[in-house]
Amino acid sequence: MRPGLVEASALTTLHWFEVLRCFSFAPSCSCWSFYLSQSLLGQSAKFEVVRLADGVYAAMRKDPPGFAVESNSVFIVGDDGVIVVDAQSNIGATKEVLAALGKLTSKPVRYVVNTHWHDDHIIGNQVYRDAFPGVEFIAHTNVRPYLLTKGVSNRKQWHESGLTQFIEQLRGIVKSNKNSKGEPLTEEQRASLLSDISLGEGYLTVPPDFQPVLPTIAIENQITLYQGSRVIEIPLPRAGHTSGDLIVHLPQEQIVVAGDLVVWPIPLIGGDQSHVGDWGATLEKLRALNPTTIVPGHGPVMHDDSYVQLLVRLMTSVKQQVESATKHGETLEQVQNKMNLADLRKVFAGDSKVRDTLFSVYVAGPAVESAFHDAKEHP
Ligand SMILES: [Zn+2]
Repeated sequence: MRPGLVEASALTTLHWFEVLRCFSFAPSCSCWSFYLSQSLLGQSAKFEVVRLADGVYAAMRKDPPGFAVESNSVFIVGDDGVIVVDAQSNIGATKEVLAALGKLTSKPVRYVVNTHWHDDHIIGNQVYRDAFPGVEFIAHTNVRPYLLTKGVSNRKQWHESGLTQFIEQLRGIVKSNKNSKGEPLTEEQRASLLSDISLGEGYLTVPPDFQPVLPTIAIENQITLYQGSRVIEIPLPRAGHTSGDLIVHLPQEQIVVAGDLVVWPIPLIGGDQSHVGDWGATLEKLRALNPTTIVPGHGPVMHDDSYVQLLVRLMTSVKQQVESATKHGETLEQVQNKMNLADLRKVFAGDSKVRDTLFSVYVAGPAVESAFHDAKEHP
C-alpha cells in the first residue's frame, strides 16, 4: 500500500529516504531519491533545458510531485569547458542530460559538482567519467566516506528489501485505479504514481553492487573556480539535508544552485540523515547571498526566495518546538505527539492529497526525529 492511499496514522514516522520502511521492506537508508522559464532550449518528456544567464543553463525535471524524484542539473559553460552540477539516479537518465548538453556546446565537461551524497545526484557521475576522461568530481569532504560505507550498504539493502515488489504494488494500485479505501484515484494521484513507477524503473537499472564514481576533490571550506571572468563559488553552508551539502553560487549572475537544501513542493527530510537543527540557519546563509535565481535539487527554478523563507519557517518551528520539549526530558515519541505542524502542513500541501501525503512521509515524522537528534547532540 502506498502512503496517502492508506491511513495517515501508518505514516507518522516515515520519510522518503525510508519510504520502503513504510512497506516493511527496508530500514532507514539513503535517498532512493529516486526521487522552467525563459528561453526554452531543449525539450524532453522528462526535463527541459532553460537558459538562466549567459552560458548558464539548467536541465529542469518535469516530474509531478511524488515519492520518487530525479535531479535537476546545471551547466556552466566557459571558454574551455563546462562545469556540471549534479548527475542523475541512473546511467540512462544522465545520458539524456548529457545529450542535451551536447546540443548546447561541444566543449568538454571539466568538473562535476555533487551537491550531496544521495544516489539521485551521484550515480550518473559514471557517464561523465566515461565521456570525459580526466573530469574532476567535487563534493563536500563527508561525501566520499559516506559513499564508501553507508551508501554501499543502503543501496544493497534497498534492492534486497523489495524495491521491485514496491514498484509492482504501485502498478497494482494504478491498474485497479483504487486507493486502500476503495476510492478512485484522483488525476493527481494517478500522475504521481505513474511518475513514481517510471522513476523507480529507472533506478532499478542500477545494480545493487554498483560502485559510484567517487569525488576526486573533497572540500572542507569554500572554494572558488574561475571560467575567464566568471566566478563560481562553492560554499559549504553548514548541514541541512545531509551533513555533506554544498551549494554553487554565481555572484555575478546572482544564481544559487541549492541541491536538496531546497526541494519543492515538499522538502525531503531524513530522520537520521538531515539536520533540521541547522537547516534554517543554513538557508538563511543562502538567502544572504541575495540570489535572483535559485535552482532547487527538485522542483522548478525560483526567481525569489519566498519558498526558501517558508522552508526557514518550517525548520525553525520544528527546531523550537523540539528544543522546548526536550528541555523537559520528553522522549522522541512524546515530542512527536506534542508537535503541532497543522498550519504549516496546510501552507505546504494546500488542497493537494499528494502533497499532504508527502508532508506526512517527508516532514511530519522525520523533521521531528532529525531535530530531536540535533537537540540531544547540541543541547
Ligand atoms: Zn535529491
